[in-house]
Amino acid sequence: MELKITCIPGDGIGPEIVAEAKKVLDAVARKYGHTMNYTDILMGGASIDVHGVPLTEEAIETARNADAVLMGSIGGDTSTSPWYQLPPNLRPEAGLLAIRKALNLFANLRPAVLYEELADACPLRKEISEAGFDILIMRELTGGLYFGERKTIEENGVVKAIDTLTYDENEIRRIAVKGFEIAKKRKRKVTSVDKANVLDSSRLWRRVVEEVAKDYPEVTLEHMLVDNCAMQLVKDPAQFDVILTENMFGDILSDEASMVTGSIGMLASASLNDTRFGLYEPSHGSAPDIAGKDIANPIATILSAAMMLRYSFDLDQEADAVETAVKRVLQEGYRTGDIMSQGCVQTGCREMGDLVAQRI
Ligand code: NAD
Repeated sequence: MELKITCIPGDGIGPEIVAEAKKVLDAVARKYGHTMNYTDILMGGASIDVHGVPLTEEAIETARNADAVLMGSIGGDTSTSPWYQLPPNLRPEAGLLAIRKALNLFANLRPAVLYEELADACPLRKEISEAGFDILIMRELTGGLYFGERKTIEENGVVKAIDTLTYDENEIRRIAVKGFEIAKKRKRKVTSVDKANVLDSSRLWRRVVEEVAKDYPEVTLEHMLVDNCAMQLVKDPAQFDVILTENMFGDILSDEASMVTGSIGMLASASLNDTRFGLYEPSHGSAPDIAGKDIANPIATILSAAMMLRYSFDLDQEADAVETAVKRVLQEGYRTGDIMSQGCVQTGCREMGDLVAQRI
């Protein structure tokens, strides 16, 4: 199979971690007889330095013509980098918002996996963490409170701020379909999270999710209120498979879920549209403090590449091979500095990429 992939190395550690993910993809291509066709585009600070803007129309067009986008991360040190003297619409992060919008990436997927080998990094009590967990948070990314009408007014001398939370049934249906489709590839359980005891938008959310569930009898659906979900994530994370939720709830819950794994350098993510197209990137930022030192952990980006194989190319066996290779490297005791613990062997970014690639 020919895989047309646009790469966005980006800023900071971005180019280093993307290079390692490509190394692993190349090993997959060799083993399973695929051809990887990569085209790099500039985004974020790297694009500002060359073009004066964080993302050009040509770059968007290149991404649009690919099957998937693999990204490192963008942005610099927000207090010292000259990129942050620019108006907000010209700063690095504006590139990310622009590409999400241009490519209609409405579904954000963030796995939170607790690896047995890294259980010590988990801040939860041992009796909770030892059950392990593998959660996928599916967050709606382009609707809800963050995109609703907002204004600040003055009424009778009192300043008042108004934000509106709007969802229509089509926006809910398309993300629910994604959630159930992805649950089919996992443990076949969807926990739909809302605040249906208070919000109309949540009541509609619940109704549409139930309608969609009828097409997926093999997937178990449960509903959970968002406040309860926040508690359950620290009390019994092993109960979850796919958590399906709207934009703001997902924003908060996905950060909570990633913190309970304790290892930011391990967390992948994907943003999908209603075709197979997706943008895959680590959950962490560009870590300017460690850029260029060959000490960044490339595993989050490597696991993002595995998600790309699974969700954009339907190559489950190849995705499994990447995830298994990562687990083997951890089992063998290799660690980058951020996940280092006593008795393990410390590696750099490049060596970690080599170790994973060799185990494909
Ligand atoms: P960050 O995630 O870049 O770094 C937080 C801490 O984690 C730092 O100490 C860093 O060294 C460490 N870290 C992060 N990734 C690591 C890895 N792979 N291996 C080892 N250590 C790692 O967050 P920040 O410092 O708040 O942000 C830095 C820049 O990244 C900012 O410009 C921010 O806007 C940007 N950012 C970009 C994205 C994105 O591209 N999607 C996401 C978040 C932040």
